[in-house]
Amino acid sequence: MTERTESARRIVIENAYLAPVVGEEIENGYLIAENGRITALGAGTAPRTEGAERLDATGCLVTPGLVNTHHHLYQWATQGLYQDSTLFEWLTGLYRTWSRLDAEITYGAATAGLAWLATSGATTSSDHHYIFPKGRGDLFDAEVRAAAEVGLRFHPCRGSMDRGQSDGGLPPDEVVEKTDEILSATAETIDRYHDPAFDSMLRVAVAPCSPFSVTETLMRESAVLARDKGVRLHTHLAETLDEEQHCLEQVGCTPVEYMEKLGWLGDDVWFAHAVHLHDKDIRRFADTGSGSAHCPSSNARLGAGIARVSDLLAAGAPVGLGVDGAASSELTSMAGEMRQAMLFQRAVHGPQALTARQALRIATLGGARNLGRHKEIGSLEPGKLADIAVWRVDGFRAALADPVCALVFGPTPPLARLLVGGRTVVENDELRTVSPDAAARAGAAARRRLLAEEDR
Ligand SMILES: [Zn+2]
Repeated sequence: MTERTESARRIVIENAYLAPVVGEEIENGYLIAENGRITALGAGTAPRTEGAERLDATGCLVTPGLVNTHHHLYQWATQGLYQDSTLFEWLTGLYRTWSRLDAEITYGAATAGLAWLATSGATTSSDHHYIFPKGRGDLFDAEVRAAAEVGLRFHPCRGSMDRGQSDGGLPPDEVVEKTDEILSATAETIDRYHDPAFDSMLRVAVAPCSPFSVTETLMRESAVLARDKGVRLHTHLAETLDEEQHCLEQVGCTPVEYMEKLGWLGDDVWFAHAVHLHDKDIRRFADTGSGSAHCPSSNARLGAGIARVSDLLAAGAPVGLGVDGAASSELTSMAGEMRQAMLFQRAVHGPQALTARQALRIATLGGARNLGRHKEIGSLEPGKLADIAVWRVDGFRAALADPVCALVFGPTPPLARLLVGGRTVVENDELRTVSPDAAARAGAAARRRLLAEEDR
């Protein structure tokens, strides 16, 4: 069946527990999707729908598909290295390996990384790719191809670094690009790939890497470019105390103050991590609508700290989740990050710091808000795109009376179905768009190729 006919068809999901994120949960209900959009949902028996596939979701929880708002797909090829290092040690160790990336490695790593995300309930993913070695193929195009094949909605960020060690930055000079070349390549990438349509499968964001790897000029000019093109802005921010120290020494202010000075606070911006925020930073995020992508596993793996998610939510600031690159959060899934986010907030702030429903909300609608897609995805409402996860919460999980608790408190349940724009991407816990074995092999081959390159 072709993609077009499959997303055009009708599907009726019935006998399900619906957690739509917006509106009341429905204990025994149905959801109808047609032409890639949700057309109806309600309690009881579904109305007769001619020619529809009927999915009996008895024992299943239906939620919006999860939305991943921070990733570095290429890192699938460098998992498990520098296992006990701080962020700056880890980066310094890996930059030279990453300088040998090429299009084939990027394609294999992205295929495996996106397949992994799909099989754990993500229907949308962003990616932050910021290393573009010269003469090694079109790395951006490689990950765009991988996303189209796996079938996820994709928000790749054209990342960049222009501040090497000789300019006081952290990365070696060989992995950075020239400022003007970055800006023109980023503009070309937006013109070539960005699709602003409601049902867009591909939107591009502008994403200089971090305050410690990017010049002030590139930060400022990136914001101008993104606003001129009507696309969003993304960068790493306030990930570690080392970064705050670096910022204080180099530019005389904290990371969030620096971003404000450069015109980088706003409702078209989302920051990865935002771990070390001061009270006034949280107020500025809320006042300006600046979002953050909470990446709990990565932050814990690198010993960076725990973001102030419950404080951000209480202040009314947008928060989404991210798995972050697999080199700092090996084999991390979006459903797993929901659980980590909830547990980490509770470990620090007590058992009411983040509820299961709040965790589900940041993993779906919160992520959609980060990507500027909250009108299209992130909740189950008529008119929204049919990006839907159908989780099996029967079997051992049937002992939990609350299916949302089973999803968030427990380990990730199997997926009965994952739909992206009405198209089946996962069925009975198995990827249907590409062969899962082939995707796994592509990821392993990417690693072998990258590390073999290094030995050369
Ligand atoms: Zn990152």
